[in-house]
Amino acid sequence: MEWLAQAACRDANPELFFQEKGFSQAKEICDRCPVVSDCQAWAVQHLPWYGIAGGMTAAERRAVRRKQVEAELRAQGRITRQGRKIPLAPELVQTVIDLTRQGYSAAKIEESTGVGRETVRKLVKREAQTGAL
Ligand code: SF4
Repeated sequence: MEWLAQAACRDANPELFFQEKGFSQAKEICDRCPVVSDCQAWAVQHLPWYGIAGGMTAAERRAVRRKQVEAELRAQGRITRQGRKIPLAPELVQTVIDLTRQGYSAAKIEESTGVGRETVRKLVKREAQTGAL
């Protein structure tokens, strides 16, 4: 993350980026940030729940991530025209497991990845049975 050295928020008050409401000051800082696209790409993958990053709220980042996951699944032929998902890509399974290890609930993981919470629970159960969790 070498781009962090150029971040416009380096010297800003971090609280601006983690307020419950009123993110406008943080978004203004992001608007003039020279590394906003690097930050967005990272934050969409790694910061699904809190704060402003890459000029986006957490909900905006989750929406982008859901679209990315769907596009990845379509590209891999793992989602049908009717939108029915068929066997999950190993990378997506690993993402679910990683988020579980980080303590996120099935509902939060569903929100972030688009993998249904029942599927998340089944994956977690399977991983626990194999001793991986
Ligand atoms: S886009 Fe915003 S949060 Fe990301 S590095 Fe730049 S100022 Fe910081």
